Amino acid sequence: MTHVSTNSNKKSGPKYQNTFAFQPNKNSKKTKYINSLPINGLCRRCKEIVEWRKKYKKYKPLTTPKRCVGCNEKTVKKAYHILCNKCATDKKVCAKCQELVEIVSEVDCELPIPKPFSCS
Ligand SMILES: [Zn+2]
Ligand SMILES: [Zn+2]
Repeated sequence: MTHVSTNSNKKSGPKYQNTFAFQPNKNSKKTKYINSLPINGLCRRCKEIVEWRKKYKKYKPLTTPKRCVGCNEKTVKKAYHILCNKCATDKKVCAKCQELVEIVSEVDCELPIPKPFSCS
């Protein structure tokens, strides 16, 4: 009888997969701070842009409040926003592009989405 051994190398998959975004300093204080900043009051497109900036370390938080284009007060505390929370809420527009669109917040999947869009 010939004994057939099964010691041929089985192909094993790679232990680590690069499924995550490039994160050079994922534990740095600044990154943590930036990731903790909420993104809300923006339309879906602008939210995605800001999320993208966070993900790829292109997000530059404001160091001083910016002047709101709505009320002319230095009330804009979020980077990339041009309207303060109050003005954006009053006008029901996106605080970044000022489009009169459906505003998404952190809990965007709870809003009814008219387009054939999934939240994945
Ligand atoms: Zn304002
Ligand atoms: Zn927008």
